[in-house]
Amino acid sequence: MEMKCVYQGERIIEIEKERAKGDKDKISYIEDIIRNKLGDKANCRFDAINEKGFCIFHDPDYWREHADEIKNEFLKELKKGENFFVGYHLPTIAFPKDIKIEQDLHMEFTKIHGELDVSEIRFDRNVSFDGAEFDKASSFVRAEFYGDVSFYGARFNGDVSFYGARFNGDVSFYGARFNGNVQFHKAIFMRSGQSENRRTEVRVSFYGANFRGDVSFDEAKFNEASSFVRAEFYGDVSFYGAEFNKRATFDDSFFSKGVSFRDVKFPKAASNLKDKDTDYISFRRVNFKISTKIVFDNCNMERVSFIHTNISRITFRNIKWGKDFRIFDEELLLLKLNNDDKDLTYDKDLTYDNVLTVYRNLRDNYDNNMRYEESGKFFINEMKLKRITMKLSIEKFVMFVYEKLALYGESYVRPLLAIIAIMMISFIIRLYIINQFNLDTIVDELIKSTDIFFTNRVDIDNITVIERLTSIPLFGMLIVALRRKLERRVRR
Ligand SMILES: [Zn+2]
Repeated sequence: MEMKCVYQGERIIEIEKERAKGDKDKISYIEDIIRNKLGDKANCRFDAINEKGFCIFHDPDYWREHADEIKNEFLKELKKGENFFVGYHLPTIAFPKDIKIEQDLHMEFTKIHGELDVSEIRFDRNVSFDGAEFDKASSFVRAEFYGDVSFYGARFNGDVSFYGARFNGDVSFYGARFNGNVQFHKAIFMRSGQSENRRTEVRVSFYGANFRGDVSFDEAKFNEASSFVRAEFYGDVSFYGAEFNKRATFDDSFFSKGVSFRDVKFPKAASNLKDKDTDYISFRRVNFKISTKIVFDNCNMERVSFIHTNISRITFRNIKWGKDFRIFDEELLLLKLNNDDKDLTYDKDLTYDNVLTVYRNLRDNYDNNMRYEESGKFFINEMKLKRITMKLSIEKFVMFVYEKLALYGESYVRPLLAIIAIMMISFIIRLYIINQFNLDTIVDELIKSTDIFFTNRVDIDNITVIERLTSIPLFGMLIVALRRKLERRVRR
């Protein structure tokens, strides 16, 4: 009497939960995937071969002694155009290069006990490896995906390479775990327009993915919005030469070792901020465990947000910040305050205080590296922002004057020029009053004008009083600025 394999209905959930024992995260995904995504499509169509009630594919041990048989049977099914392989136990498998995968491919909860090689395979429709397990190395090198790809809660126990892979639809590695090294070198994430069901804006998701080994996204191209939210990286991470052309979010991610963002292309400043303000790179609440091993080198950071992330000790080299070192967080904040963008009102991180903290962090960072000139520019922006957001008051006026005359003590050229200007103006006025334009009077008045500035000349002439009164604060500003400049030089 032939019996159906027991991999059916509710038993599937039991079997998969039993297998995932100890992996709490994965257990929490199982019901969702089986019930909501697969339904009765997950049911096995084969007959049982033993008293345990499993078929050749679902028996957890059959593949051990019959690797060739399983491999051949599986490839035979695949060639036939069969597309449900839920929960199969497979040995080392290489997809033949000439195979055509023209339908959705369902490999949810598949356990690949050997190596998987699908390099250079073209997948015409959606591919799902949700909850799948890859025990050894897997190669997706130069694979082409024309539909959506999902590795929701998958477990990669060996190294995995997506070198040069092309993703044309949505890509999800939501909650996936990578225990080996991961390679996305030269992978391309782009839009095809083929995928119909757009659930979120994010098209490439590594949400909550967990990387235990080293990860490379070198020269990877993200042409779609991507998310690394809550991703955890325990090895070294490299984004050397990567390109982000849409929004990317690293919010709440965790980096345990080094990260390199060298020669990375981030979105550039848009001519009209209001149109494209969502396309920026967000590093909010990122936990860089060893800040000194985080490197941003030769990047355009005109559209990067660092709110709630401690960046005071990470390395910034050859960075292009916004115009006059204005940071993107400030631009967003001003948009929000002006009510120019309704979506920003929901951005609770975007507060005056938080933006100032980013400036202070950056100042601290640059000061620590003795890059006082850049640090001074951040300081000017910080003070400007303080002034702009102040209520009308004497203090606001004083700050305005201080900004214009001395850039908050960062410029000694400005007060110096102001002093010369006032000396010249008072000199010209005096000359007009006397109305004698011979050389002697000119020299005389010029000396007098300079004299008022530099000596305690007593004179009750109106012009002299005004000149003296303006000279005092201007001299003060000059001295403050010079002192700041010189003291920094000798501080270390
Ligand atoms: Zn079965």
